[in-house]
Amino acid sequence: MKSGIFALCALVALAEPAAADFASCKQQIKAQAGADGVSQATLSHALDGLEPNDAVSFLGVQPEFTTPIWDYMAGLVDDERVRDGQARFAEYRQAAQAAQRRFGVDAAAIVAVWGVESDFGKSFGGRPIVQSLATLACTPNRRSDYFRSELIAALKILNHGDVRLEEFNGSWAGAFGNTQFMPSTFLRLAVDLDGDGKRDVINSVPDALGSTANFLHHAGWVPSLPWGFEVKLPADYHGPSGRGAKKPLAFWAGHGLAHVNGAPLSGGGAYGLLLPSGPHGPAFLVSRNFDAFYSYNAAESYALAIGVLSDRLKGGPGVVTPWPTDDPGIPRVERKEVQALLAQRGYDIGGKIDGVMGAKTREAIADYEQKIGMKRDGRAGKKLLASLRAGK
Ligand code: CA
Repeated sequence: MKSGIFALCALVALAEPAAADFASCKQQIKAQAGADGVSQATLSHALDGLEPNDAVSFLGVQPEFTTPIWDYMAGLVDDERVRDGQARFAEYRQAAQAAQRRFGVDAAAIVAVWGVESDFGKSFGGRPIVQSLATLACTPNRRSDYFRSELIAALKILNHGDVRLEEFNGSWAGAFGNTQFMPSTFLRLAVDLDGDGKRDVINSVPDALGSTANFLHHAGWVPSLPWGFEVKLPADYHGPSGRGAKKPLAFWAGHGLAHVNGAPLSGGGAYGLLLPSGPHGPAFLVSRNFDAFYSYNAAESYALAIGVLSDRLKGGPGVVTPWPTDDPGIPRVERKEVQALLAQRGYDIGGKIDGVMGAKTREAIADYEQKIGMKRDGRAGKKLLASLRAGK
C-alpha cells in the first residue's frame, strides 16, 4: 500500500513536465511529417488535442509463464481455425488465386497468414494507431525512434486517404487491418488488388490478401517450393539442424530422413531441419518459404503455425508425430471451457470467456493448480481441463 501511495505521488510530480514533453514531441513530429509532404490539415486532424494512452505499459513486458510449442500450435492451428479458414478460402478463392498468379505465392499460405494475424478479419485490435504510436514515439524508451518513423508513416497513410482516422485502429504497437501490417510495411508493400484505386487492408479482403502475397514475394518466396514438410528422423540422428543449415534433399536422405509417411525424399530445393521440441518430437524440413513466413513475424513457432495451417486448409493432416509431452495443448474451444469452469469456481479470468489465455486467466489457472496440488505453471492443457471437468 505504501509503495502504491509513493508511486502515485511520483506520478503526479512527473505529470506536468511529461505533458509538456509530449506536446513538444508532437510539434517536432508535425514539423518532420510536414517536411515529408503531409498536409497541415491531416496533421491537425490526427494530432491536435491528442493525449498519450497506455501503449508504453506493454513495452518489454515479459510473460510470467512460458508457452510451450504444443500450446502455441494447439491454439493457432485448431479445427475451428481450419474450418473457418476453409470457408473463407472458398469465399475469397478468386482473390487468393489472383494474388497467387500475380506474386507466385501459394494461395493457402496467404489465407493462413490472414487466419493467424486477425482470425480471418475477426480481430484487428481496437487501439487508435496514431495515439499508440505517438505515445510510444514521445515517451523515452529504447525503440522510440522506430515508433517515431512508424508514426510518420501512419500520417502519410492518412494524408494519402488510404485509411480514415476513425477506422485506423489496431494493436498497441501499431499493426493494423486484416494482415496486421505496420504503417511502414503498408507504405512499402500494400497493393490495390481489387482495383478500386485505394490500398485498403482494413475493409478489403482482396487488398489484404494481395498485400500479404506481395510481402511474402519480397521476402524471397520461391513459387516452385513448399514451405516445408514433416519428416521422420532416424532414431540415432546426429546430423545438423536449424533452418539456417540448408541442404539438398539428397543430403537429408543420406542421413536417413524420410517423409513422415515413410516415402523417400526426392525433388529440388534446399531445406533446413527444424526440430521445434528437440530430436524426440515432430521434425520438419523447411525451405526459403518458411523464412518468408519468419520475415512476417520473427518466431519459428509462428512460421510453423502458418505452414501447418496452410497445409490443413488444403486438406492435409497437420502435425502427425506427437509432441513430446504427456499433457498436450488444447484448442480454443476447450480454452473457453477452462475459462468458464474457472469462472464458475469464482476465479477472476479478466473479463469475457474468449479462449485467450491472458495474464488474468493464467493467474487464475496458477491459483487453481496450487489449490489442488498440480504443478503451478499457469498453462491450460489436457490435464488441467480433465481436472476441472472432474469437479476438482
Ligand atoms: Ca482496393
